[in-house]
Amino acid sequence: MNQPANLRSWVSDANQHADFPLHNLPLGIFSQGGSPRRAGVAIGYSIVDLHAALAAGLFSGAAQTAVQATADGTLNGLFALGRGPRVALRNRLLELLGEGSGERDAVARCLLPMADCTLHVPAKIGDYTDFYVGIEHAKNVGKLFRPDNPLLPNYKYVPIGYHGRASTVRASGTEVRRPRGQTLPAGHSEPSFGPCARLDFELELGVWIGPGNAMGEAIAIDQADEHVAGFCLLNDWSARDVQAWEYQPLGPFLSKSFITTVSPWVVTAEALAPFRCAQAARPEGDPRPLPYLWDARDQAEGALDIELEVLLLTAQMRERHLPAERLALSNSQNMYWTVAQMVAHHSVNGCQLQPGDLFGTGTLSGAQPGQFGSLLEITQGGKEPINLASGEVRRFLEDGDEIILRARCRGMGQSSIGFGECRGVVVAAR
Ligand code: CA
Repeated sequence: MNQPANLRSWVSDANQHADFPLHNLPLGIFSQGGSPRRAGVAIGYSIVDLHAALAAGLFSGAAQTAVQATADGTLNGLFALGRGPRVALRNRLLELLGEGSGERDAVARCLLPMADCTLHVPAKIGDYTDFYVGIEHAKNVGKLFRPDNPLLPNYKYVPIGYHGRASTVRASGTEVRRPRGQTLPAGHSEPSFGPCARLDFELELGVWIGPGNAMGEAIAIDQADEHVAGFCLLNDWSARDVQAWEYQPLGPFLSKSFITTVSPWVVTAEALAPFRCAQAARPEGDPRPLPYLWDARDQAEGALDIELEVLLLTAQMRERHLPAERLALSNSQNMYWTVAQMVAHHSVNGCQLQPGDLFGTGTLSGAQPGQFGSLLEITQGGKEPINLASGEVRRFLEDGDEIILRARCRGMGQSSIGFGECRGVVVAAR
């Protein structure tokens, strides 16, 4: 599956592109002007219109089947086909877009400037589950509530998660309306109702599910990777004051379901293959996972080495043409459970996973300051405000603040690939 690092494209701006060089080829759903939604692939600053390329006769066999499966303007059908057709499409695109392609002129007619297109949530999401596998986040947040015992006893046995709302998952660029809700002000015994005063972000990876399972049939851990189509960035916007009042006993509810933002490009499992690594977040001496969560190959190469970044751009920074300020730089190696373990656990009771289902990993913080993937951690629940280079101060997000998530894979001897951006601007409560 590994691609040589020196793959070059005749689409010349792709070769130095930080996110979308030839060996990435992420899948997405776009529209241009009022056109119907259709599937595309990012290459440099352009999109290959797969529908147009299909009409031009550039695909045959399994690659053709893969593109035909996107005819409804979503990637669900392609995800449902599993790895084979997805790989065939990738291999054909490597030929078509590679230096020395014999079909360069025909492909060039199918390229659109990405800046002229609108990108959408790439699949119709049936179910969205948010996990809690970032162990440093779990420890950092646990410490705020239980300084002596930050991790609850189930953490090292169960990949913890909750069921989120698929209805409010939106693509990067969608504005984030400050939610209103119930909160319990400090020192009060009765709740208040009003705009959230402690609005936060959460830096997460998203996982797009492929074929899935029949209800009642679990996915074995050594088969789990067959059910992962690809990855995105995910911001699980969180109303901390609403969350603190509502979360017991059943977990987050309205504090999370007002919006979840995803980056629109699906970075495929194949593109990420060179950036897999050994599971390192589980130290020696931790309990061995139960057999249904244990697989030697998954332990050896099931983790991911993806650099994750959060930036803040305030309204004042935009007005003064200041650059966005980095709030955190972390890595997906802080996942205590691998994606395969998440898939195996989610389905072990017979729960059906379906093509286009979305998982969030949970906040992927590191252990050190500068690596925290939420303001809850960065400001210690608002107690230690951030002094920004612009002279502004933040405890939680204010109206006009934009959060930008980015991700990059930098392998030894490999050109980097990236995810594109996951952005959202906070706007005032209604
Ligand atoms: Ca979360």
